Amino acid sequence: MMIVMKEGATQEEISHVVERIEEVGCSAHLSKGELLTVIGAIGDRDRVASLGLEGYDGVDHLVPILKPYKLASAQFRKGERTVVEVDGRRIGGDHFGLIAGPCTIESREQTLETARVVNEHGASMLRGGAYKPRTSPYSFQGLGVEGLRLLQEAKDETGLPIVTELMDVRDTEDVIEVADVIQIGARNMQNYTLLTEVGRTGKAVLLKRGLSSTLDDLLMASEYVLKEGNPNVMLCERGIRTFETAYRFTLDLLAIPALRELTHLPIVVDPSHAPGRRDWVPAMSMAAAAAGADGIIVEVHNDPEHAICDGPQALATTDFGDYADQVRRVAEVAGKLVSV
Ligand code: PEP
Ligand code: MN
Repeated sequence: MMIVMKEGATQEEISHVVERIEEVGCSAHLSKGELLTVIGAIGDRDRVASLGLEGYDGVDHLVPILKPYKLASAQFRKGERTVVEVDGRRIGGDHFGLIAGPCTIESREQTLETARVVNEHGASMLRGGAYKPRTSPYSFQGLGVEGLRLLQEAKDETGLPIVTELMDVRDTEDVIEVADVIQIGARNMQNYTLLTEVGRTGKAVLLKRGLSSTLDDLLMASEYVLKEGNPNVMLCERGIRTFETAYRFTLDLLAIPALRELTHLPIVVDPSHAPGRRDWVPAMSMAAAAAGADGIIVEVHNDPEHAICDGPQALATTDFGDYADQVRRVAEVAGKLVSV
């Protein structure tokens, strides 16, 4: 249930509604807009209804949220879009962000060289995995803490905020020391204990859509982070499994307009993992930007031929400048402000 407060409702009136919601065992989430405050009451609907909140001082009206996800629903923000801001870099609303970097952190040279180039060409954040979810347990699993240290060095030198994956709750402390945005990978999208833990860190989160997850599944997963009081969640379409075998995954570009209607959360597209080859990455990136994505997260490597992981789909650093210009041009045509 959403409780829409009157314009000019006092803090006392707002607190009173919150207290009553909590008294019946539900939780209250405040969303303060420029004019209006909206309180999301999450929990047993009948108990909230029994309070008769429509008659309280300062309450304008009540709106039932029909979707199973509440805090993520577009209705909850009444048409306002969430803008995730990290170190002055914004993604969401009118703001388009370009996140770039290697699939996995391999070495100091690889990390710093790639970071320098993407920074020079206006990437807004650096990506790179220190913990890698690999299909085979015999494949390289990431450098772990050493990888995080290299990411920190790249951040210190370039100033780029870091996006890196957390796979295991036991690594949370190490990861949040370096990460500005915690990536939750496709395979962990429904790891609810991990999502709850990440919600508690208060760090921004990039939540990737599971390989066979519906948009409802994705939004329900985001709700686990949001319910911990962490509003900084970005959703990421990265390709889903279909019957098609001509490429790794099917990039579901319709997720962009569909999610725009369903949720206020920023929508980021990963154009690298679905094609699995770099020559198709620019087309998918521009298509995503044209369709209204709020950002792109793309794999870039200083020496893709020798990359340990996902080399064939990594853009070479030498091609990144032209690529970034193209994507930004399309994002601008789609009405976005492209911030560094
Ligand atoms: C990645 O970003 O390198 C990655 C492993 O992504 P996903 O979880 O989408 O497969
Ligand atoms: Mn990858």
